[in-house]
Amino acid sequence: MNDWNIQSRARACQTCGNAFADQEPYHTLLFERRSGFERLDVCVTCWADQHQHGAADRKGYISHWQGLFTVPPAAPPEPIQRDNAETLLRRLTERNQPAWQPAAFILAVMLERKRVLKIRETLRAEGRRVFVYERPGTGEMFTVPDPQLRLDQLEQVQRDVAHLLEHGLPPEAGPAPESIHDEPAAEPVATGSPEAGPAGESVVAEVVAS
Ligand SMILES: [Zn+2]
Repeated sequence: MNDWNIQSRARACQTCGNAFADQEPYHTLLFERRSGFERLDVCVTCWADQHQHGAADRKGYISHWQGLFTVPPAAPPEPIQRDNAETLLRRLTERNQPAWQPAAFILAVMLERKRVLKIRETLRAEGRRVFVYERPGTGEMFTVPDPQLRLDQLEQVQRDVAHLLEHGLPPEAGPAPESIHDEPAAEPVATGSPEAGPAGESVVAEVVAS
């Protein structure tokens, strides 16, 4: 089951098909399916008529919340920019590699503290906790499993996250997070110095050996 994903909010009621208007309240129902979490966004009328009574008895039902639909703003022209915590979380989630889950979890916690994400629910799925976050404004739902980090692992993951924020996500075929911390610390290095860092040292060693 894929319990790590982002699901956008529907732009229309998924029961009657009427488009949501700006500032219209809506209801989200969350179900657990074999393939992962499934959200259902419905209008107030459909909630009252078809879902309110008995929703909790339906197969796979886990949660329900209310939201306020806001028309998403037109996408601003995107300047080339470094990843911030939010774009990084999106890209890690798209990548969906278990090795990045601890970093995704730390980013979600950071974003919750910054009030970029709001926690909606804490669930249990397949024996572990899954945090359900909502992005106010867009209404997107982020589900992030608890990586169950030990205290001694936490510091390393925080360093990985700081590294990602500083240097961005390595390409798809790039190193998994375990190898990130093998790189030299990101100390400012005088450019042009042949002694700079391990790469420089090995070059020096080769020169000496030949
Ligand atoms: Zn409806």
